[in-house]
Amino acid sequence: MSIKEIIELDSFSRENIVRLLTCKGEDRSLLFNRSAEIKERYIGKKVWFRGLIEFSNICSKDCLYCGIRKGNRNLKRYNLSDDEILDAAKFAYDNRYGSIALQSGELESHLVTDRIEKLLHKIKELSKGELGITLSVGEQEPEVYRKWFDAGAHRYLLRIEATNENLYRKIHPEDRKHDFKRRLECLKSLQDTGYQTGTGVMIGLPFQTIDDLAGDLLFMKEFDIDMCGMGPYIEHADTPLMASTADLLSLEERFDLTLRMIAILRIMMKDINIVAATALQAIDPIGREKAVKIGANIIMPNITPGRYRSSYKLYDNKPCTDDSAEDCQSCLEARVSLADNEIVYGEWGDSRHYERRRRAKG
Ligand code: SAM
Repeated sequence: MSIKEIIELDSFSRENIVRLLTCKGEDRSLLFNRSAEIKERYIGKKVWFRGLIEFSNICSKDCLYCGIRKGNRNLKRYNLSDDEILDAAKFAYDNRYGSIALQSGELESHLVTDRIEKLLHKIKELSKGELGITLSVGEQEPEVYRKWFDAGAHRYLLRIEATNENLYRKIHPEDRKHDFKRRLECLKSLQDTGYQTGTGVMIGLPFQTIDDLAGDLLFMKEFDIDMCGMGPYIEHADTPLMASTADLLSLEERFDLTLRMIAILRIMMKDINIVAATALQAIDPIGREKAVKIGANIIMPNITPGRYRSSYKLYDNKPCTDDSAEDCQSCLEARVSLADNEIVYGEWGDSRHYERRRRAKG
């Protein structure tokens, strides 16, 4: 079957996806044109913002790829005060961002649960219920997810990181804190609680194959996710995975694979929300805009207070660590219009897929 025929199919087999991830020249352009066309038809040439507040880099986990892993001593740890978080949320509200995303390292404790619950109430209050809230604070017990949902968070992003369990094991320590099955259970529990549920993977990891990436996309379809945030793996000098360089793709290859993953997912899941990951911009200055053009519809401008940004360094060369939130906004407006898309202000920009999924469930 030709690429032209594959991109018209209703659903893709693993083999179809592998072909799309590796096609060249004219075929690659056909893929990107098709995904752009589907985005325009189902979503519009539009982008919604999630003002990203990276409120703490303190983490109890030791993921082998991540710059804020517990074992990294070359990092100043921080935890924003409640007022700093609320000020950032107010900035998003005043600038009509529609939504914010609260992200941090992973901690499980009553203190953290209660703090986030209170903050959620306060953010809803200061924005008269108008700011949508995405959480991305890792694995938690179902009761905790429920508490936060009841307090007003309605989207949750938990990347599965790699859906091939063997690969997952190679990029995490082998212990109970880094258990693939628990991460999967958490994702299920988020969906059962009623969140718009998002997941994603890193692309171009050491030991990862094209077949693994095809499996990742099939997993997302099968799990029936509402949102996806996936991006290229980028080395961090102070992490153990830095030593695994055998067969590592070049940054340009990881970038190109990420664009293909986004394009293929957009064709497979036409009405979900797809993030143009910041890590794309670490490789190509207009990386996020390229993703927007071929299928992504969400950008997460960083609105963390400037002085903390360099300490939330997940990978080397993380962009925008010295901009202010205001700089981010004007820069993004120009960039998104270059991608022939427009930013929608003052709307949540919820996943249409979620509404359809809930309706189908009755
Ligand atoms: N701890 C929360 C969780 O895992 O859900 C959220 C914070 S975590 C730092 C956010 C994401 O950063 C992870 O899901 C991972 O995919 C990504 N990340 C970490 N290290 C990375 C790297 N070296 N390259 C690219 N992405 C990375």
